[in-house]
Amino acid sequence: MNELTNFDQTAEARDIAYHMHAYTNAVRHAEVGPMIIEGGEGIYVEDNEGRRYIEGMAGLWSVGVGFNDQRLIKAATDQLQKLPFYHNFGHKSHAPAIDLAEQLIAIAPVPMSKVFYTNSGSEANDTVLKMIWYRSNAMGKPEKKKVISRMRGYHGVTIASASLTGLPNNHKSFDLPIDRVLHTMAPHFWKDGNPGETEEEFATRCANELEAMIQREGPETVAAFWAEPVMGAGGVVVPPKTYYEKIQAVLEKHDILFVADEVICGFGRTGNMFGSETMGIRPDVIVMSKQITSSYIPFSAIMMNDRVYGPIAEESNRIGTFGHGFTAGGHPLGAAVALANLAVIQDNDLVANARDVGAHLLGRLHGLADSPLVGEVRGIGLIAAVELVEDKATKSVSTAGKLGGLMNNAMMRNGLISRNMYDAVAFCPPLIITRAQADDLFEIVAKSLGELEAELG
Ligand code: PLP
Repeated sequence: MNELTNFDQTAEARDIAYHMHAYTNAVRHAEVGPMIIEGGEGIYVEDNEGRRYIEGMAGLWSVGVGFNDQRLIKAATDQLQKLPFYHNFGHKSHAPAIDLAEQLIAIAPVPMSKVFYTNSGSEANDTVLKMIWYRSNAMGKPEKKKVISRMRGYHGVTIASASLTGLPNNHKSFDLPIDRVLHTMAPHFWKDGNPGETEEEFATRCANELEAMIQREGPETVAAFWAEPVMGAGGVVVPPKTYYEKIQAVLEKHDILFVADEVICGFGRTGNMFGSETMGIRPDVIVMSKQITSSYIPFSAIMMNDRVYGPIAEESNRIGTFGHGFTAGGHPLGAAVALANLAVIQDNDLVANARDVGAHLLGRLHGLADSPLVGEVRGIGLIAAVELVEDKATKSVSTAGKLGGLMNNAMMRNGLISRNMYDAVAFCPPLIITRAQADDLFEIVAKSLGELEAELG
């Protein structure tokens, strides 16, 4: 701190005065004020008034190893001492970036060829879109540039990745999405299934709708399909059985690449190292961020197979360089922390823990299904959501987001940080959570739901 810090005012007042928040109603922030987090330990964080919370969202679906893992902290400090910065432009390299690329290729769920480094999930998706356009030009198919993502999918907030995102608030007043980005339906059976339709029939309808969109646009103009194996920010949507099998058959028929956005699912979240394994996806490109460093350091990476890499490499040779890259891409600190993070996940078998404790937690959450306010409980591995409704028969609410907001506030009062996406409250705790801690988390959910039922009476 220095003389520019005004200690006469509280941190809350100074936050309101100087800090514009992400994903926040800027005007309301002046009334609501910030929640200031000062520390963390394991699955818990503590605010500046000494209140402790279970971080039921692992921060932003991301702090897999918990909030004070010493191996990650040591890896970061050691790397700072050794080489605080270097880059990978023009043939330069460094050991952490090389070691991590090799390890990512080794754990990839399908054969992959190369890793490219970026700094955030948004930047990674943006980069993949540029790579796909570059590749189509390299292949002499300049018309093959359209991409299809899904309504309610989340891929970030840069111009390209916000366009891929299929949520209204990421488009409204931003003049997005850009051309050449299309959205097909979300695979949410509970919400969008027709009366009498089976899950598998619904999956067929999703694939048919994709096929129809491709035909309308012209199959020769569509380059790639983008999907989170399990949707996160769109409300934790686990696709129904046979969905990806049917989607992939359509893509293969039309020579369309599959980009798996594993920014939330990657590194154990769904009970396997990658969501693609859990969901039976054979991606051409994998996007990774968040849990790759447990978010201790901003970092992201893209893995691609030879089918994608080959034409891009040729084009860079024709032009003389691949004209894309970020100053901090593959940052030694991030790569060192990612290597330590991977070691912690592997040494502590956190993928199996996500599977076991996740099944336990989901089982307990399913026990809430009888509540008059619970429409659906869904999830897989250690990611879950409880969708609240006012009318179970019509699955409806009068004001979207009201119930979810009230439930979120109740859980917060009771010591659990969750997040509501409209009326779905999500749970995505650190991968290190134990069964006993999952029970604690569940007890707060059940208590908060009881309070909400009483309040709405
Ligand atoms: N992709 C997915 C699946 C995400 O959940 C997110 C962030 O929540 C992103 C991309 C964007 O990542 P970032 O916020 O690091 O830009």
